[in-house]
Amino acid sequence: MNYQKNDILTVTIEDMGHDGEGIGKADGYTLFVKDAVIGDVIEAKIMKAKKNYAYARLMRILEPSPHRVEPVCPMARPCGGCQLQMMDYQEQLRFKQKKIEDNLRRIGGFEQIPMEPILGMEQPFRYRNKAQFPVGTDKEGNLVTGFYAGRTHDIINNRNCYLGVEENRQVLDVVLGWMEKYGVSAYDEKTGTGLVRHILIRYGFKTGEMMVCLVINGERVPKQEALVERLREISGMTSITTSTNQERTNVIMGSKIRTLWGTPYISDYIGEVKYQISPLSFYQVNPVQTEKLYGTALEYAGLDGNETVWDLYCGIGTISLFLAQKAKKVYGVEIVPAAIEDAGRNAELNGITNAEFFVGKAEEVLPEMYAKGEARADVIVVDPPRKGCDAALLETVVKMQPERIVYVSCDSATLARDLKWLCAEGYELKRVRGVDMFPMTGHVETVCLLSNRKSKPDTHVDLTLDMEDYYRIKD
Ligand code: SAH
Repeated sequence: MNYQKNDILTVTIEDMGHDGEGIGKADGYTLFVKDAVIGDVIEAKIMKAKKNYAYARLMRILEPSPHRVEPVCPMARPCGGCQLQMMDYQEQLRFKQKKIEDNLRRIGGFEQIPMEPILGMEQPFRYRNKAQFPVGTDKEGNLVTGFYAGRTHDIINNRNCYLGVEENRQVLDVVLGWMEKYGVSAYDEKTGTGLVRHILIRYGFKTGEMMVCLVINGERVPKQEALVERLREISGMTSITTSTNQERTNVIMGSKIRTLWGTPYISDYIGEVKYQISPLSFYQVNPVQTEKLYGTALEYAGLDGNETVWDLYCGIGTISLFLAQKAKKVYGVEIVPAAIEDAGRNAELNGITNAEFFVGKAEEVLPEMYAKGEARADVIVVDPPRKGCDAALLETVVKMQPERIVYVSCDSATLARDLKWLCAEGYELKRVRGVDMFPMTGHVETVCLLSNRKSKPDTHVDLTLDMEDYYRIKD
């Protein structure tokens, strides 16, 4: 059957893609439909047709899924921030758990999966400690702020995002009120003119400290005192800064930070470890779940205080410092120099003296140190970006023969590929647990424990798996 653009098909949604889009089949032809939920029977209109699949738009729900709920946020459908709000939270968790299991089975080839129940949130809204609101002007010339619509840079006017803290709205009201009163312009991406580009807000869940950073297309803001005076009235306000970004780019933050009032950072805690967070620092956005994620990694690492641990892809050293409290020595490796500076400073701030950090590619730093006889480990932790671990890194990890490997992953497809390889090299998958760091979105984190069998099975697995196969159906 040949389908084309604008054809309308009736499908039952049976699965969900990476970005939370519903997936259904009509005569073996696959449709990806945004806003459709597993279990829905829908009418969908084809927007973009390929040979074996199409992207389609949800036109009508013929029979709603039993898991369909009314989104809490009235902007949920047009907004690009949430994909799963119309799905019952328990069903979201079930879906994420299944996604991990399916990937381990299909890509990893695992039959018995030692899966533990996914760690969800009690309150799956208002969990983000960071928000970046773009500022613009609508057709009538009014100032607007909110979020980009899915796949575009059109701003959806919404000062009350349900993933962020309630205080965000107060900050946005103050900043936009100040802009209106003093005629401060919003940045226009098309012309590269106008001043205020983004409003970054960070909130320390444990400390109650709040940061506002205005990203501006210029060096200074006019009527600075008036802005500061009103922002200071917001409870918890600790840090008011500007970041200059005069580039015509999608990168939000500029590198130059100026403090208008207070400190150039706020503080917050993960467990007992204190962090100083500046406008440019990377910091996990869901602090409640981060504690569960790192707690699981710590439990899996099984430390008794005598271990040497390597934490690869360590970022600002959050996992390293968490583990350092229970290990003899922790070494962290990370590619971004500024993150390593933060890691060192955070170690000092907490009086942690048994953590050491290296800047560089994990797949270069570790093999080099191993070759020099300077890298040995009882436990190795990896927390790579979506593409997973580099082959050279995994090879060195196996040569080092740690007792345990703890793999923290934000993409269970590449995780499954890497686990398959590690298990063919003599490791055994002992424990797997999902952690829902981003409720209402399609993402899920996974923590795994591998233990050393001390013998290598008679198999070999090729790491050059074509991941494209798993993300898309090929034409
Ligand atoms: N473990 C940290 C961050 C994990 S995110 C935390 O929990 O906060 C993955 C990190 O890997 C990012 O900080 C990224 O900058 C870093 N990274 C990406 N490629 C890398 C490479 N080849 N070598 C080392 N680090 C890398």
